[in-house]
Amino acid sequence: MTAFAETLAGLTAWLKTESPTHAPAGVNKMMDLVTREVADAPIAVERIAGRAGLGDVLVLRAGPEKNEPAILVMSHLDTVHPLGTADHDLPVRLEGDRLYGPGCYDMKGGAYLALQAFKEVARRNAARRPLVFLMTPDEEIGSPMTRPIIEELGRHSAFALVTEPARDGGKVVTGRKGVGRFEVRVEGRPAHSGSRHPDGRSAIREAARQILRIENMTDYPRGVTTTVGMISGGTAANVIPQHCRFAVDLRVTNGVDGEAYSAAILGLTPHDPDVRVSVEGGMNRPPYEKSDGVARLYDHARSLAGELGFELGEVPLTGGGSDGNFTAAGGVPTLDGLGIDGDGAHTLHEYGLVSSIEPRRRLMVRLLETL
Ligand SMILES: [Zn+2]
Repeated sequence: MTAFAETLAGLTAWLKTESPTHAPAGVNKMMDLVTREVADAPIAVERIAGRAGLGDVLVLRAGPEKNEPAILVMSHLDTVHPLGTADHDLPVRLEGDRLYGPGCYDMKGGAYLALQAFKEVARRNAARRPLVFLMTPDEEIGSPMTRPIIEELGRHSAFALVTEPARDGGKVVTGRKGVGRFEVRVEGRPAHSGSRHPDGRSAIREAARQILRIENMTDYPRGVTTTVGMISGGTAANVIPQHCRFAVDLRVTNGVDGEAYSAAILGLTPHDPDVRVSVEGGMNRPPYEKSDGVARLYDHARSLAGELGFELGEVPLTGGGSDGNFTAAGGVPTLDGLGIDGDGAHTLHEYGLVSSIEPRRRLMVRLLETL
């Protein structure tokens, strides 16, 4: 088999191994494939059992055994696509340069190419620092289980490289907004909507006012957005509703705004004194700001890409969070978007561009060798 055919076969097998976050058996099969992939390389594999219905975690270690901060590579092997997607809605197939399949772009393509690079550098013993590769099962739901693992590994790392999808024709990501999540519960007073209307205190009416208050916090020039994306409440058309609840998504560009807007949302008070409003939640992913360290890391990657013959652009701020937010917020220079190029993340037309695999694998090799 040619190297290209081998890559295609390997990645295709990964795509056919469906691994939605809440199907731990599938995620664990992915962890098995990774373990098999590195079995004949000088790579130590630590497997941490999943908890709370989530799959396992892999920590791969290679490189010199020095007591020095490592290069941390991070990939998630869970996807958002439910089981069966590969059989019907998004069959794994190659059309021209596009490899379609669940999670090809976000982010099995990136995980695959980074693993090949990791293996190569480990085999040649070419790294200057210890290398750590973290494969996680829960990124798509905000990394509730692996966040402490990421933060702990981050404390022992000099750099973090994240294989989330490339953007806009191959750009890497050097900044991400922070993400806050909140749950607002409103409790009013129920009453018959016909005979007892004045006695009722509508939780939905109060929620409507609160929702507008929250949505009005959006400030585009400041880079702050607030979204109420889910709502439920009421029991029947002829009952003044006692309960209403809704979910809030907050995005900010810096930690100061994260605290200020979280405080504003947590501090919401009812307009109607007879209604109760309670809010839970907070920042789920801290902002990943483009620090000087991030800028230097990007410049380094760009010059390596130049040596390899391609231009490496950057997206200096994107609204979506990733595990890179945790390392960046911990002060570790972090470069994200090192994965495969393509499009359609989280949709049924998701694909990766196979022509982007080899240049980006080489870039990863050079990063692991030179950082
Ligand atoms: Zn992803």
